[in-house]
Amino acid sequence: MPKTYLDYAATTPCDPKVVKAMSGFLKKDFGNPSSIHNFGQKASMAIGGAREVLAEFLGCESEEIVFTGSATEADNLAIFGVVKAAKVAQPHLITSQIEHPAVLESCRALAGQGAQVTYLSVGKDGVVEIAELKKALKSNTVLVSIMYANNEVGTVQPIAEIAEVIKKTNPKTLFHTDAVQAVNFLDCDVKKLGADLLTLSGHKIYGPKGVGALYIKKGTPIEPIIYGGGHERGLRSGTENVAGIVGLGQAIKEIQNPKSKIQNIRIRQFRDKLIKTILKIIPASRLNGSLAQRLPNNVNISFDGAEGEAIVVALDQKGIAASTGSACSSGSLEPSHVLLALGLSEEVAHGSLRMTLGKYNTAKDVEKVIKVLPVVIQKLRKISGYSQS
Ligand code: PLP
Repeated sequence: MPKTYLDYAATTPCDPKVVKAMSGFLKKDFGNPSSIHNFGQKASMAIGGAREVLAEFLGCESEEIVFTGSATEADNLAIFGVVKAAKVAQPHLITSQIEHPAVLESCRALAGQGAQVTYLSVGKDGVVEIAELKKALKSNTVLVSIMYANNEVGTVQPIAEIAEVIKKTNPKTLFHTDAVQAVNFLDCDVKKLGADLLTLSGHKIYGPKGVGALYIKKGTPIEPIIYGGGHERGLRSGTENVAGIVGLGQAIKEIQNPKSKIQNIRIRQFRDKLIKTILKIIPASRLNGSLAQRLPNNVNISFDGAEGEAIVVALDQKGIAASTGSACSSGSLEPSHVLLALGLSEEVAHGSLRMTLGKYNTAKDVEKVIKVLPVVIQKLRKISGYSQS
């Protein structure tokens, strides 16, 4: 049975050009970039090249990029690193209720060590209220961390506006944004965004797993969270994942290719068709999160009387791979913290399905979902005894 993959927010396959760019660095060009011989220098130059590609994409200097082992690590470095360097007796942090666990759990750990954390709520549309942020900023607010685009419902935050409010209210407060889900689709120029720190990940953009990056604006006080040989200007010790970094650089190059814009238009058309048709043909279904402020590839819909996990399993049996929320939280039967923050009841949050599209999807995939999903929902509703009154 041909498989339909609709879980691009969880991870993406590597672009063949990424695989090609990486392969030499897994075989003949295997040198340690810290070695001074030719093998090492070749590896070191390849890292430098990838750093320049990322810098151009983000509109920053190459020295402002730190490669990490994942976006989770980049988020941790941004949060713990900034708080450590601030040396404030009781630091205050602001984040939102809908962040990825890489941010939420870092904040929670700091709260356990005495930091104060404000978790901004979001409206029904999944967007942070600027007025609430303004009110939350205090003289001891060391860092604000708000994601650019949400991994579950795809809502896009007004990052430039958020940065402006922070800098006007308290210029010393630093601003971090997790742009992992935004990179494929949105302008990530850090100057336009006004971010001091920005996180991205390789495996969400047709690059390899196990590599991420953190943009750190020059002059930002930050301390490492990993100590060792002083790689990445002392901010991330550990021999660099050369092939991974090269792959990340190539993935960014592919995003900059004009072809990527055309692919994104197609992805948006598929998304719109899915949302419109599903809401029309399946009764008691609703879209979660704003339609206007939404990533072009995200469909997140709740169905009364059908359980999310059961929908995902039934779709998988029909050759469609989707998800109930983020890959990190699947396997847990807790309702999504993002959907609860949007104001959904636990019951409705349990009945949600996330489908995230990517550049390898075709019109046939969309047709298949439109054909299969109503049958799956109807069957599950019958089993659960759901009746629309
Ligand atoms: N931040 C967001 C918004 C994500 O969606 C993810 C992955 O699901 C991460 C961070 C973590 O990325 P990584 O798998 O590279 O650690």
